Amino acid sequence: MQLQSYAAGQWRSGEGGETVRHAITGAPVATVSSKGIDFAAMLAHGRKVGSPALRKLTFHERALKLKALAQYLAERKETYYELSKATGATRADSWVDIEGGIATLFAFSSKGRKELPNASFIIDGNPEIVSRNGSFVGQHIRTPLQGVAVHINAFNFPCWGMLEKLAVNLLAGVPAIVKPASQTSYLTELMFRDMIGSGIFPEGSLQLICGSVGDLFEHLESQDVVTFTGSASTGRKLKSHPVILRNSVRFTMEADSLNFSMLGPDATPDQPEFEIFIKEVARELTSKAGQKCTCIRRVFVPRPLIETVTEALSKRLSKVVLGDPSVEGVTMGALASLAQRDEVRARVRELQQGAEIVYGDLENFSVTGGDAAIGAFLPPILLRCAEPKQHAVVHEVEAFGPVATLMPYETAEDAIDLARRGEGSLVGSLVTYDNDFAREVVLGAAAYHGRLLILNRDSAKESTGHGSPLPVLVHGGPGRAGGGEEMGGIRGVMHYMQRTALQGSPETLSRITDRWITGANRVEGVHPFRKNLDELQLGDCVKTGSHKVTLEEIEHFAHFTGDTFYAHMDEAAAKANPFFGGRVAHGYYIVSIAAGLFVEPNPGPVLANYGVDNLRFLTPVLPGDELKVVLTCKQKNPRITENYGEVRWDAVVTNQDDKVVAQYDVLTMVEKAPRVETV
Ligand code: NDP
Repeated sequence: MQLQSYAAGQWRSGEGGETVRHAITGAPVATVSSKGIDFAAMLAHGRKVGSPALRKLTFHERALKLKALAQYLAERKETYYELSKATGATRADSWVDIEGGIATLFAFSSKGRKELPNASFIIDGNPEIVSRNGSFVGQHIRTPLQGVAVHINAFNFPCWGMLEKLAVNLLAGVPAIVKPASQTSYLTELMFRDMIGSGIFPEGSLQLICGSVGDLFEHLESQDVVTFTGSASTGRKLKSHPVILRNSVRFTMEADSLNFSMLGPDATPDQPEFEIFIKEVARELTSKAGQKCTCIRRVFVPRPLIETVTEALSKRLSKVVLGDPSVEGVTMGALASLAQRDEVRARVRELQQGAEIVYGDLENFSVTGGDAAIGAFLPPILLRCAEPKQHAVVHEVEAFGPVATLMPYETAEDAIDLARRGEGSLVGSLVTYDNDFAREVVLGAAAYHGRLLILNRDSAKESTGHGSPLPVLVHGGPGRAGGGEEMGGIRGVMHYMQRTALQGSPETLSRITDRWITGANRVEGVHPFRKNLDELQLGDCVKTGSHKVTLEEIEHFAHFTGDTFYAHMDEAAAKANPFFGGRVAHGYYIVSIAAGLFVEPNPGPVLANYGVDNLRFLTPVLPGDELKVVLTCKQKNPRITENYGEVRWDAVVTNQDDKVVAQYDVLTMVEKAPRVETV
């Protein structure tokens, strides 16, 4: 199989090429080369063809495409599973890669439609009033970068590694060039062919390089983004490329990570947490044969328990069946390549400078259904370092395979110190039922970690595990882990957008951002509740008549709702209250009266009120006060898949002195224009 790259709208073969081999059988799987491909043209194609096409779509349109793509790939997943066997993966390993990747597309599709507007840019935060009379205001917005995202991925997740990154840049409206690690690029190429074949995303949104990136870096521009996952040495080299520095190209890196798992002092063998810990460490060590960036590398245990933990872990690891995953009963497959196996062996030998192997053997082990001389097999290796503060090597060397080092600690402070010695990791986990211990460790070590998992008898059952980055949570870590951040829900989308502070009049900024700002024009006329979503304009408003508040009404409201709080009912007690100095109306009375004032009661396009945002009561309302409301159409968000959309209204309730007593956003669902029937 000669792998091809998808460049500027065409599948192209590179000249010559390197052969990549089956991890189990050593048989050639594919030849990989990108020689002769015009990388400058690929970048230009992404910028000129992909970027404008994607930017024309709204977040909701892009999100729906992500969902369609996820469905399309899910229907074809068995072909990926089949080819994934060549990477040495078990079915469970492939599930994480293939279905974990597809699930990420679904997750971002859902997030995008729920949390982003049906628009092509984001309004970031509230307007900032920067002038005395409010005629000059500030507003931040985020717009998609107009360059290309270049994703340089590691060999260990040929599908997930591609999809978790694409989900985010595509949602943001930025095209991508995917460059998988050569070793497992055949699986990425297979899935990528389907992505292109589906025709779901516009041409130019997705390109692929199988082989090296050649001179691509020479042609990067300031609007491009590079994400890198792999070894720290390659990462550093690329991050310091002169073009990256000169053009301030955004660069996200995920590299080595000496993740930890810690057993709490309370978690003695008679507690359920002990078993949870042993299971989690053993599972992480063997899942994907330890070739996960989040794999547990350092295992911290209270010193008195180190022997017991060594025994329990060894017992558990002895049940692992290493071999060809297509043979019944095999629970751990091979590493991705012989080169990777040799690399891991070399790293273990380095670790042995500060630790001894207490379980496993680098050379002598049995393989079920495979040949240790041909396949990239390596059994689980557990090391132990008795004095972890004296041996920097155990905190610095990442053996990217089924390898972890046990280390004792004395106190919580000591455990935190050990965690920090990783100098920045993707993830740490604590197994403890002592929430005070958990709090101390979290606050001491969080700054050095991108994610912390606290496991105990309450959370273990539903826990997604130490090793699983989730689309809605941040994945990445400081320091040695690369300093990058991926996913994290909508946070991840922001990495591909530029934040810009706008300054101008409220009317101008309202027109630009499609959100009405206080001070912009208001238009009175037909009651806005009579207008459908298409007819409704930002600034359409209703200014109501007034309603006089009486003590009888306050008391009625109190008895009717059961809210007889003293400030509404007890004159003497209310007088003593420093805020009120007498009986006042309920806040919810004000909101209810306001609704009574602004609502147009007849059946019409307004379908439902689904909440209020930012409700504040600003001035006490006393018997005798006269309340009135101005309700203004603030923002419209038509849905693509429904015949309605959300409308946000600005509600301001004032008293007879024009003092604002309450302010909030009313959230409603409003019907679109009635559909025109076509013959
Ligand atoms: P590399 O750094 O060698 O490769 C990572 C990616 O970078 C691959 O796509 C590779 O492509 C590409 N690459 C390599 N050199 C260049 C270059 N000069 N310019 C542009 N791209 C380049 O890492 P590996 O994937 O081989 O893994 C090696 C080690 O990295 C592992 O043993 C492990 O220690 C660590 N690693 C850490 C991870 C983490 O997140 N913590 C994840 C994966 C790996 P190609 O394959 O074509 O060379």
